[in-house]
Amino acid sequence: MTELGLYARFQQLCEATSAIQEGHFQLASGFHSSRFFRCIKLFQNPTAMSFLFDTLADKLSIAMGANIDYVLGANEAGSIIAFEVAKRLHTKVAIARQKDHRYRLIDGFSFQHQERVLIVDDITTTGGTAKQLIDIVRQANAEPVGVGLIATKGIFEVDLSCPVEVLITLQGMDAINPSDCPLCQQGIPITM
Ligand SMILES: [Zn+2]
Repeated sequence: MTELGLYARFQQLCEATSAIQEGHFQLASGFHSSRFFRCIKLFQNPTAMSFLFDTLADKLSIAMGANIDYVLGANEAGSIIAFEVAKRLHTKVAIARQKDHRYRLIDGFSFQHQERVLIVDDITTTGGTAKQLIDIVRQANAEPVGVGLIATKGIFEVDLSCPVEVLITLQGMDAINPSDCPLCQQGIPITM
């Protein structure tokens, strides 16, 4: 699939599922924005979504090579992406979730010394979640082989000190310091 074909199909899917929402949002990175990509909404229709997982898994297997022991994802969207990518790469899945502002593997999951772990996530503004997931892998003396993202906003340079593959660079997204946020200045309440 060409880059353009992929973006057009992705946009169609976003429109069909209302995955990109307008409002006044507080992002996990602390920034405010007027548009929010709610990736989980794309997953309402697994069949329509599968081309994205196919493309992401292909891209990751070319970029990161074989011999991946785990695909790690966090939260609802990240866990689903990890499951779908792991299925396509014929490897295992691990899931993390946030507790007390820190990501941890959920009970029953662990990494062994030198296991190779691929990290996936839906979208990032600054790479904050991926950085924490990389830390989980390193703390277990396992090896983070890279990060695969469905989308970035293309606003910040995201340096994760390991290879990063991105499927889609979303157009027209914003991330504003709360002190400069025009929506705050207009007194518009936070949508979420
Ligand atoms: Zn604001």
